[in-house]
Amino acid sequence: MAIDPVCKMKVDPEKAAVKAEYQGQTYYFCAPGCKVAFEKKPKKYLEEADEGEGHHHHGR
Ligand SMILES: [Zn+2]
Repeated sequence: MAIDPVCKMKVDPEKAAVKAEYQGQTYYFCAPGCKVAFEKKPKKYLEEADEGEGHHHHGR
């Protein structure tokens, strides 16, 4: 499974409605809106993903 870098949903590459190539990588999206957001600021989403899981566990 691929991860939609915008909303972090799991996306099946076989069924993905939308995909985009960026720096030689193919990214899959759950919806056209996510692709648009990604293409506006790809670095934002990729850096956030890169930063790791550690920042998303504040809620407990
Ligand atoms: Zn999405």
